[in-house]
Amino acid sequence: MRIILPALLLLAAPLSAAAPVPSPILTTPDARDALSYARPEVARVTHVDLDLRADFAAKVMRGSATLDIAAKPGASEIILDDKGLVIERITDAGGRALTWAVGKADDYKGAPLTIRIGAARRIVIAYHSKPDASALGWLPPELTAGKKKPFLFSQGQSIENRSWIPTQDSPGIRQSWSARITVPADLVAVMSGTRLTPRGEPAGKSWKRYRFRMEHPVPPYLIALAVGDLAFKPLGARTGVYAEPVTLAPAARELDDTEKMVRAAEGLYGPYRWGRYDMLVLPPSFPYGGMENPTLTFLTPTIFTGDKANTDVVAHELAHSWSGNLVTNATWSDSWLNEGFTTYFENRIDEIVYGKERAAVLADLSWDDLQRDLKEAKPPATRLHGEPEELYGELAYNKGAIFLRTIEHAVGRSRWDAYLRSYFDRHAFQPQTTANFLKDIRARLVKGDAALEKQLQLDAWAYQPGLPGNAYRVRSATLAQVDRAIEQVSEGAPVGTLPFSTWGTQEWQRFLNGLPRKLSTERLAELDGAMRLSASPNAYVRSAWLVLALGNRYQPAVVSAEEYLPRIGRMLLIRPVYRTLVEQGAWGRPIAERIYAGARPHYHPVTVASVDKIVGFTP
Ligand SMILES: [Zn+2]
Repeated sequence: MRIILPALLLLAAPLSAAAPVPSPILTTPDARDALSYARPEVARVTHVDLDLRADFAAKVMRGSATLDIAAKPGASEIILDDKGLVIERITDAGGRALTWAVGKADDYKGAPLTIRIGAARRIVIAYHSKPDASALGWLPPELTAGKKKPFLFSQGQSIENRSWIPTQDSPGIRQSWSARITVPADLVAVMSGTRLTPRGEPAGKSWKRYRFRMEHPVPPYLIALAVGDLAFKPLGARTGVYAEPVTLAPAARELDDTEKMVRAAEGLYGPYRWGRYDMLVLPPSFPYGGMENPTLTFLTPTIFTGDKANTDVVAHELAHSWSGNLVTNATWSDSWLNEGFTTYFENRIDEIVYGKERAAVLADLSWDDLQRDLKEAKPPATRLHGEPEELYGELAYNKGAIFLRTIEHAVGRSRWDAYLRSYFDRHAFQPQTTANFLKDIRARLVKGDAALEKQLQLDAWAYQPGLPGNAYRVRSATLAQVDRAIEQVSEGAPVGTLPFSTWGTQEWQRFLNGLPRKLSTERLAELDGAMRLSASPNAYVRSAWLVLALGNRYQPAVVSAEEYLPRIGRMLLIRPVYRTLVEQGAWGRPIAERIYAGARPHYHPVTVASVDKIVGFTP
C-alpha cells in the first residue's frame, strides 16, 4: 500500500489558514477508479464550497462551486468529473479567467472537465445543472405526502453527484465541504453536514438562505441536499427526524428507538464521529430504502408499516456511519466493503435493540435473498470484488455479511469484535480496498495461524464466484413456523387455518416468497381473499404478492399493480414486479408497458434508468 501523506501534498497547497489538510489517497492499481476521470495523484480537490440557488420552475441548481486544490509541484491542470453541467466561466480566486475544456462524454460516466489551473490552488466555477441531472429528483407537489409544495432531493451514490457538483467524484478522493443554499422562503433546505442555520436567513424578498458545513473529509457521493416543506422533531439528545408535516408524527413514533441504536452501535465499534444523527423522510418516489448521508440519513416512507418491523433499514444506514462513511470503498468494485460490512453490523445493532430472535429472522431472510441472487446472477457477477457494472442486486450486501458472520463464528465474537473495532479506528476517514482489508485481517487476526487461514477461505470469499463451503447460516425459529405454513398451503390446507394474524413484514416476505411459484387461480383467489394481499398497505407485502400473483397471470392482481407501481419509487420493491410482468411475455409485457408509461414521469431518474432497462423502454 502506498499512501500519499498529507505533508507531501500540503507543500503545494495554498498557504491560507482555511486550507484543509488533504486526507490520504491510495495509489495502488486496485484503488484506481475507472468510473472517474480524476488524476488525484497530480491534482486533487480538498474542499468544495457551494453557493447555489434552487430554481424549482427551471428545475436547475444555479450558482458557483469554489474548489480548493492540492497539486504536485509544477502541476498545471486538474481534471474533474462532469455529467451534463452547464458551465458559464471558470476563474482563479482573483477572478482571472482560466482555460477549460470538456472532453468526450460517456452516457454513464459523463465527461472529463480539464481546467488549466497554472499556479492557482483555488478556483471558482460558475455553472448550473440541467433539468434532467441524474442526481436530482424535482418532485411536483402532487408527488409529495402533503401535496401542496414541491420537493427536491439529491442522490449522489454511486456516481451521480457530478450532475450537479463539479468536482472529482470518486469515493477515494475525500473532500470537506461547505454550502450556502438559497430556496423559496416557504421551503426548508437540509444537507448532510452541520446545519448552521436551521431556520434559514432572509435572502431577498421571497427567498431564504441556509448554510451548512462538513468539516470531515468525505467521499463526494455523500454530499446530499433536500428542499421541501419540512418540519423537525427531536427523538433524543443527538437524534431527530425531518419530514413533511403530515408524515412527521407517525415517522417519529416508528423511529423512537434511534437513540438506542446509536448507543448500541457505539458499544460495538467505537464512537459515533459525526455529531448529530438525524433522519429525513423522503416522499415515496425515493429510489432506495435509505441513503447513509452523514448526519442525515435519507429514508423511504415505505418502511413505516406501523409496527417498527422495518427499522432494520435505520440500523443499516446508521451502521454506514462506520462502514462506508468512515472507512470507504476506494472504488465501486469494492462496494461490498461498504455494503457487506454494513449488512453485518446492522444485524448486530438489531440484536442488541430487539433481541436475538429478531436478528435471526433478518439474517435468515438475508440468506434467502443471497440464495435467490446466486441463482439469478451469472458468474462472475457472484464475486464480492468485481467490476461495478456486473455486481448483481443486493448480492454484495448479503454475501459480504455472511462472510463476516462466518469469520465471527470461526474466531469467536469477542476476538472478532475487538478486531473490527480496531479496524474502524485505524482506517477512519480513509479509503479501503479488498486487498488491503485481506492484508489487514491476516496481519491482525489470523496472525499466521495456518489452520485458521485454511478454515476462513478469505480469498475464495473475496475473489471467487458462488458461496464458499464454510458459509455460516443462521436459522430462525419464527421463520421455521412460517415454513410449516408454506408446507400446509402446498398440501392443500385451507388458507383460513394458517396463523397469519400475528405476522409482520418479515414473516410475510418468507411466506409469499416461499410459496410454490405455480398456483392455481382458485388458490390465489383464496389467499387474496383471506389475507387481503392485493390491498395490503405494506409495500413489502404488496411487492412479494404481486410477484407471485402476476407470475401466475392472476388477472385480479393487475388492478393492484396499477395502483401500487406508480406510487412507489423504491427500486427494491418495484423492479421485481416489472420484471415478473415482462417475463410473462404476450400477457404481461403490454401491462408492464402500459403501467410504466403512466408511472415513468413520476419516478426519480435513477429508478427510470433502471426500469427502462427491464421494460425495454427507449426514450
Ligand atoms: Zn447500504
